[in-house]
Amino acid sequence: MKPPTLELLQLEPPPYRELTYHQRTGWACCWCGASLLRAGGVPAGRARGRSGAHVLDVDVYACGPTCPEIPTSAGRYE
Ligand SMILES: [Zn+2]
Repeated sequence: MKPPTLELLQLEPPPYRELTYHQRTGWACCWCGASLLRAGGVPAGRARGRSGAHVLDVDVYACGPTCPEIPTSAGRYE
C-alpha cells in the first residue's frame, strides 16, 4: 500500500546535514522548521545523509503542500 501522493512528495527534501534535530526526528517541518507536534505533518520524502560508512537517511515531514519554504525548483539542493 502506497502513501497518499502529494505534489510535495516529488521534491527531494533538504539533505540531512542541513536539518535540525527536530526536523530529523519529524517533529518539525523539514522546509520551514515549524513544529508539527500539534498539527501533524505530511510525508516529505527522505533526507539523504552519510557519515563515513554510515547511511543517515531519515524520513522527514513537512507542515503541508503549501509550506512557504518549499523551493519552486526541485533541483535546488542537488
Ligand atoms: Zn513548512
